[in-house]
Amino acid sequence: MGIVVQKYGGSSLADASSVKRVARRIVESRRQGHDVVVAVSAMGDSTDELLDLANEVSPLPPARELDMLLTAGERISMALVAMAISDLGFTARSFTGSQAGVITDSVHGRAKIIDVTPGRISTALDEGHVVIVAGFQGVSQDTKEITTLGRGGTDTTAVALAAALHADHCEIYTDVDGVFTADPRIVPSARKLDRVSYEEMLELAACGAKILHLRCVEYARRYDIPIHVRSSFSQLEGTWVVPDAAADLPEAEDMEQAIIAGVAHDRSEAKITVVGVPDKVGEAARIFEALADAQINLDMIVQNISAAATSLTDISFTLPRADGQTAMKALAGLRDEIGFASLLYDDKIGKISLIGAGMRSHPGVSAKFFSAIAAAGVNIQMISTSEIRISVIVDEGLVDAAVAAAHSAFDLDSDEVEAVVYGGSGR
Ligand code: ASP
Ligand code: MG
Repeated sequence: MGIVVQKYGGSSLADASSVKRVARRIVESRRQGHDVVVAVSAMGDSTDELLDLANEVSPLPPARELDMLLTAGERISMALVAMAISDLGFTARSFTGSQAGVITDSVHGRAKIIDVTPGRISTALDEGHVVIVAGFQGVSQDTKEITTLGRGGTDTTAVALAAALHADHCEIYTDVDGVFTADPRIVPSARKLDRVSYEEMLELAACGAKILHLRCVEYARRYDIPIHVRSSFSQLEGTWVVPDAAADLPEAEDMEQAIIAGVAHDRSEAKITVVGVPDKVGEAARIFEALADAQINLDMIVQNISAAATSLTDISFTLPRADGQTAMKALAGLRDEIGFASLLYDDKIGKISLIGAGMRSHPGVSAKFFSAIAAAGVNIQMISTSEIRISVIVDEGLVDAAVAAAHSAFDLDSDEVEAVVYGGSGR
């Protein structure tokens, strides 16, 4: 039998009894004859607690030390899970990301995995051990420093291990039954998807669905590793993230599934408007160069041609809230040079995205989406689209209502029981 790679998130490892429960599940796979490699996250909300602690000690902790601190969370989990496994009569070996051969670039806080050299994992498996790897961390090839992969990064650790070990797929265990058509915490009638394509899952993750780390889906697509997202609290079959969601399905089901995969929302962005920009060649370039120099990743950008009378235009864009102050500073420095009138900053916004590969070939999807949002009394501030996504920016307080309205308009509500959220504070 082959190698099974599993990932258990913090909500599945909230306390001692859940660590033991997870160990029983791991041992079950081992008993079936598989070689088992497990990536674990920090227990419960402990990463947030460590961050709070760091911020109490220092308002701006050095990135290197923050990574040292946060990686401790996953090391606690890995050792406890290994202990619980040995208590069940099996042997386990825990490894830090660095020991497991997870090699990254040198960017603290959001390092990218560039290689996995799983020599110690393979040896431990050959010796008959279950292998437990601390998720969310690695070691930089150049600086030799310990790095972290960004919040939610243990998903990426798991998929990278699955690829390096040539596993057939990767199992991601979480506190809900799979990937839903909307966040079941705000839409209880959300439906579990049996399958979703890499392409749709990438858009969902990029648009705020927290179920999977965006990098993990990119990695899975690049190395063609199917992901099975499922609950560690039930035995139910979860959601398969696969190259083509409609492949091998009977025709009728195929058609039903085609149009919309789900509605995602994101409350982590802010909006900046540069008011009264002279409408002439090169001004947008100057504005966005300044933001690029400040290392800011933008999301949506909207600019209209000026009303002829004024020859001034407004440019609005969205960006991570965390970068808001840096961006405002960078732009304020350009005011005299460009001669715009003022800068507006708004972080009370939310983004709602409708995602589905079927919208490529179905007219009327935007009209239906915008009507549903209007019927919920929500005003749209910005719109952007990709081939398989339509996103709108709305007032932050109206996000839940708009998500529910869009979800119903596209008949995504389940007629079965309400979606179960088994654990986790959602923090
Ligand atoms: N513990 C880290 C976090 O909370 C990594 C993870 O859970 O995947 O972001
Ligand atoms: Mg997660």
